[in-house]
Amino acid sequence: MDRIQELDSRFIAHTYGRFPVTLVSGRGSVALDEQGKEYIDMGSGIGVTAFGLADEKWAEAVSAQAHTLQHMSNLYYTAPCVRLAELLCEKTGLKKVFFGNSGAEANECAVKVARKWAQDKKGVDFGTVITLKNSFHGRTLTTLAATGQDHYHELFQPLTPGFVHAEPENLEDMERLLKENKAAGILLECVQGEGGVVVMSPEYLRGVERLARQYDVLLMVDEVQTGNGRTGRMYAYMHAGIRPDVVTTAKGLGGGLPLGACLIGERAQDVLGPGDHGSTFGGNPVCCAGAVSVVERLDDRLLDEVRQKGDHIRECLCHAEGVRDISGLGLMVGILPGKRPAAQVVRGCMEKGVLCLTAKDRVRLLPALNIPLPVLDKALAVLREELAADA
Ligand SMILES: *Cc1c(COP(=O)(O)O)cnc(C)c1O
Repeated sequence: MDRIQELDSRFIAHTYGRFPVTLVSGRGSVALDEQGKEYIDMGSGIGVTAFGLADEKWAEAVSAQAHTLQHMSNLYYTAPCVRLAELLCEKTGLKKVFFGNSGAEANECAVKVARKWAQDKKGVDFGTVITLKNSFHGRTLTTLAATGQDHYHELFQPLTPGFVHAEPENLEDMERLLKENKAAGILLECVQGEGGVVVMSPEYLRGVERLARQYDVLLMVDEVQTGNGRTGRMYAYMHAGIRPDVVTTAKGLGGGLPLGACLIGERAQDVLGPGDHGSTFGGNPVCCAGAVSVVERLDDRLLDEVRQKGDHIRECLCHAEGVRDISGLGLMVGILPGKRPAAQVVRGCMEKGVLCLTAKDRVRLLPALNIPLPVLDKALAVLREELAADA
């Protein structure tokens, strides 16, 4: 263990199982450790560094804003958050944006919107939010309650009440819960990320949209991981052609700085009024200036490139030795290994200079959207070796 790792273990709460690597710098899709060893970054800090490490355009936007005005609070107007909100509304057709600092906070906002909307429209007891089993929506007590995986709940009772969980890909179960509960909204991921890169079918998503309209509840999609170009569209719901009432996002949006957003559509755009919600750092000019430089680059050409690279990964791995299944959309990829557990494959890759993630029993890849093809191919060669290796 080196000095940093020793101090980390003394002073940082032990909530993370870290790999024994101390990273000091990076450029694009390559990170460097203390000894100068190179690692190809196939995880992007869990889908955050959308255009790679120390991305020039993002770093310039961030540092220019830091040298101009780093924070003024929401008591005053500032330009970067307005520009970002305008871009997000233009790209989605949604009407209003609330900025927070993380995915969990974006989802907290969505739940507040749904509850207030339903209360105003249907009555105070219509507070239930339906989410999916195997989902992940965050670590706060409310978003843990929304998360449909029991093992996240066990140690932290009581959680926020008012959440029920439907079977994914099962419209009857969704309808049953809509009938049995006084529901305010449905919140779901189009691709369950932490749940193991599980893609919801367009038919299911369109069915959920139909039920949301029929039972008069808000349709809310959690695009924290899938959003901002990750799946080859601006947002993953666009693959299914549905029109959610609320979209939450974070991770890649800020390109590396903490930023979450809750986008609100026409049906609920006026639900939140003065004093209903807030965040000291929400809409911070530095974070938003960086995000503008990310979102401005998410054009059709880039999204095509994301889809092509995603297809390239699938083609390269689908018949590879030791691969049982591949799931995902665009540059969000889940690989089910056939020979060794995912964690072992990831460890093997790390030793050979490739950083990958896991999600449940899968190896998960979330590379930078602009990863150069030769770098991607180098990483895939290592991944193939590790997938083919025996336990
Ligand atoms: C990561 C994630 C969250 C939580 O985001 P934080 O920024 O860690 O709060 C919520 N929902 C989904 C789908 C995520 O992948």
